[in-house]
Parts: sequence; structure tokens; C-alpha cells
Amino acid sequence: MLDTTTAESADPEQYDVIIIGAGIAGIYQLYRLRQLGMKVRVFETGSGVGGTWYWNRYPGARFDSESYTYAYSFSEELLDDWNWSEHFAAQPETLRYLNHVADRFDLRRDIRCNSRVVAARFDEAARHWTVTLDSGEQAVTRFLVTAIGPLSAETLPRIAGVQDFQGQSFHTYRWPHEPVEFSGKRVAVIGTGATGVQVIQTIAPEVAALTVFQRTPNWCTPLHNAPITPEEQARIKADYPAMFARLRTTPGCYIHNTDPRGTFEMSAEEREAFWEKLYAEPGFSIWMANFRDMLTDPKANALFSDFVARKIRQRVRDPAVAEKLIPNCHGFGTRRVPQETRYYEAFNLPHVRLVDTRETPIERVTARGIRTSDAEHEFDIIIYATGFDAVVGAFERIEFTGSDGRTLKQKWADGPKTFLGLQSAGFPNMLTIVGPHNASTRCNIPRCIEQNVDWVTELLRTAQQRGITRFEATEAAEAEWSHHVEELADGMLYSKVDSWLTGINTNVEGRDVRRILQYQGGAPAYRAHCDAVAAMNYAGMVLS
Ligand code: NAP
Repeated sequence: MLDTTTAESADPEQYDVIIIGAGIAGIYQLYRLRQLGMKVRVFETGSGVGGTWYWNRYPGARFDSESYTYAYSFSEELLDDWNWSEHFAAQPETLRYLNHVADRFDLRRDIRCNSRVVAARFDEAARHWTVTLDSGEQAVTRFLVTAIGPLSAETLPRIAGVQDFQGQSFHTYRWPHEPVEFSGKRVAVIGTGATGVQVIQTIAPEVAALTVFQRTPNWCTPLHNAPITPEEQARIKADYPAMFARLRTTPGCYIHNTDPRGTFEMSAEEREAFWEKLYAEPGFSIWMANFRDMLTDPKANALFSDFVARKIRQRVRDPAVAEKLIPNCHGFGTRRVPQETRYYEAFNLPHVRLVDTRETPIERVTARGIRTSDAEHEFDIIIYATGFDAVVGAFERIEFTGSDGRTLKQKWADGPKTFLGLQSAGFPNMLTIVGPHNASTRCNIPRCIEQNVDWVTELLRTAQQRGITRFEATEAAEAEWSHHVEELADGMLYSKVDSWLTGINTNVEGRDVRRILQYQGGAPAYRAHCDAVAAMNYAGMVLS
């Protein structure tokens, strides 16, 4: 470890490990490294902990994983003393939970908020990273762990005039901490991904007029949220060990597991009855527990997409609006499925209007509203639910400079190259929790975060015990892993569709080519790869 006693009196401060980000990953990584007795500092941009759940305060933000499956599993005491109020908890409750964790384990003293990391440079001779904050301050660390999240680089639309609007406007990720008054207001929402859907269904009953600007419709299915009764609470708590064991066996660490049957292995009546059952079940069951070929066989996928299209037609009164809400350029589940609560019914309200921006494109934002090719719409509030420069965007917003003077942005210009989604050759001593090529972004994310963090912790424990001051993935191991990740994605329908899952974002220069950002082999296989690497004395990495 670094000799912190010899640090020069005038900064920079020296650490064994610097963690960037105090969200779910950063909080748990700090907790684990404390146990090793390491000197750790977490730098966090926000004024509080919580990451995703600190920033996304937009109306309607809530889980779409079952609350109790999403929470940390590392502490029995924590599991015992926290009661989730709903099967799919809302953002304020999750933020309270993460603050509770920070307090319960006395983590705040090592977390510095309001401290955005803007750059990090590896010094080959000293074998350490120098981290620079937006204030200009610097700190030095032997090891650097990024916990910056896959969806933390928000993007406003590239539409002329966004800065001209004179009313209130917000990106959902940058939602204000003060309440926003909707009553009597004319509101626009641009974007109909998982975020837009939550906003739209929540504010529709409150506002005077709501105009939804939709470019690509998504296949949305019911969340079926409900409060957790005292009896359920007792059952959930008693079942925790068995449930967490079960979560380790499913591809995405959800409580839903793929149905082993093929779509065409039964009668049409049986199939329909099964899909009706899924449609009535809570959460992602319909996506994750569907037939095994639903996300790989175009015919199976088309048949199920027809089923969901029929549901949309049943729920939306105006047939023309219903048709606009039915996706026609991608199949069910090939983009992230938004979970909804009376989303489709919102379009039956007389003051809610749908504008299809493929028919009538947005030309510009004006001082008073939004001008499309056929009309000028006036608004008091514009909400940008326009998404993120996903997975790699947050890495590009920090200038990481590796051992040969190249930046990570330069290295990943044609797509990420990683080893296990946790390391990148040329960037020694740096570990990327929930990085690209990692299983985490196809996962009930805290489950995969815990796995990532535990693996990183074991590597750092090894370094501590053996006096290792430098580790790095080899180019060969990285090439092999990156190839494996790409091969796995090949057979999946999602990889032929534009969305953040394939790295497409029309609002960012250069994000117009599909890229494989995620490991698609499922969390159990990913875990097995990581464990095998550790068991073989970190095969694929050079430790010195
Ligand atoms: P998103 O899925 O990327 O959706 C962005 C939306 O904005 C899309 O409808 C997109 O249209 C639209 N858009 C972007 N730029 C536009 C433009 N210039 N003009 C018109 N429309 C534009 O982002 P998101 O909804 O924030 O969701 C991102 C991810 O966050 C989700 O997939 C999910 O993984 C996560 N999330 C999770 C939860 C939860 O767990 N409860 C809730 C919300 C979000 P196109 O589709 O045509 O590009």
C-alpha cells in the first residue's frame, strides 16, 4: 500500500483506493475496502449519496425490480432492519434507504460530495493515479475504482432552440430538489422510454394539458405494483436467504426465470393462456419469464409482439392513437421494456395529446414552446426524458489517461475493449464496476454490482497481501473477452435494434453505429468467468 506518512505537506492527499461515485456501487465498494483497512476516498459529484436515486427525482420514478430483490444482500442486520413499503418502491424511499446504509455503516466520513472528478492520469514510474477534481484539487491513489453508473451521462436533444425556452424545463436526470407545480400547467414531455413513461402516467392526471412527443413507441407492460402487507413482509424476510440463492441462478438475477418451453411447442390456446398469465403478473415476468426463444427467434418474437399490440388496442380508445403507440420497427423485449401503470389509459384523457415526431418532426424549441413541421405548441413546462449517453458516456466525461498517454476515449473510439468489463489494457490499477462488457447492465443491477465489488475487493486484497503495486489486463485477454462478448450478442434480436442498449444516441456525435456494450451470457456464466480468472491467479492479467 502507499506510504501515506511521507506525503508532502502541501497536498495532494494520498490514498490506497479512490472510488469515483457514491451510488449503489461506490457505497458498497467503500464498505468492503474499509474491511481491508485500506485508506479510501470516494468522490461524488452530487451533494448527497445515492447515485441514480439521488439524481432521478422526476415524478413517478420507481423500481421495476421487486424492492427486496434490489436491496443489498451483504448484511443480515440491514436486511432485518429495513422494511420496503411497496413491491416496487418509489425513488424517495430508495434514496432514504441508501442514506440509511451510509449512516448505518458510518460511511460518510470517507465520502466527499460536491466533488466531480474531471480527470485521472496514470503515472507509470510511481505506479499511481493522480485524480483531478473540478475544483482543480488533486489526489493520488494506488488503485482507482470507477463506480460511475451506466446511465449517468444525460443527454438533451440536439434540437435547435433548447436554450431559448422561457418557461421551466428539466432533463429528468437533473430534476430539481424542490417540488414542481404541475396543476394548471401546459406540459410537454419529449421521450417515451422507461423514464418518459413513468413521468407521463404520473403527471397526466395533474396537469391542465399534456403533449407527449414520441419518436419511437416502446412495448410497455403493466408493473402491477402494490403495497407490501405485514404478512408479506414477514414472508419476504423469512425467505431472504433462499431468495438471494435463487437470484444467483437466473440470467439477470431477477426473480423471474426463462420458461424452458419454445413458443411453438404448444397449442395456440395454451400459449395465449400463458401470455395472459404473464400480462397479469407483476414486474418483468413478461420479459424475463417468457418462452426461451422469445428474444432469439424472430417468428416467436413477432407472435408475442402481436399479443401485446392487441392489449394496447384494447386499452387505448382512439384507434389512431393506439396504432401510433404500437411499435412497428422492433419486436417486444428487443429494447428495454418500460413498466407502466395506466400509461396507455393516460392517452384516453381529453387533455393528453400524442405527437408522433416521425410524422411531424420537431423543428425547434422556441421561447414559448415547441414548433413541429405542422404546428406551434405553447407550454409552461418542457420535460426532456431524452435518455443518456449510455454505458461509455460517463467514462468519456472524465479524461482517463493511461500508461502510454492515450485516453480511454481514444482507446474506445470504435467501441469498448475490456477484460471482463472490469479492466482495460493500458489502464493499469483501474477497475470499472458496471463497466462496458460487464453483465451488470442486463442485470437486476445491485446483484451484479455486489458480484463486481466482491471480485474487485478480492483482487485488491491479493494486492495488499502480496505487495502488488501494479496490475493490468493483457491485450490478448482483452481481445479474447471482447470477441466473446460480441459473439454472444450475435444471436440476440436486441443487437439488431437501435437503442441505448446498442449504444445508439442521436443526440451525441458519433453514436450512430451499433455497439455491443453488454455481456449477454447471463450473470451466472459471467460470475463463473470472473471466479475462474481469480482462481487461476488472475489469468489474463499481469500482477507485479
Ligand atoms: P431512453 O430509453 O433512451 O429513452 C429516451 C427517449 O427520448 C426515447 O423515447 C427517445 O426516442 C427519445 N428522444 C431522445 N432524443 C430525442 C429527440 N431528439 N427527439 C425526439 N425524441 C427523442 O432513456 P430513459 O427513458 O431515460 O431510460 C433509460 C434507461 O434507464 C431505461 O432503459 C432503464 O434501463 C433505466 N430506467 C430504469 C427505471 C427503473 O428501474 N425503474 C426507470 C427509468 C429508466 P428514440 O427511442 O426514438 O431514440
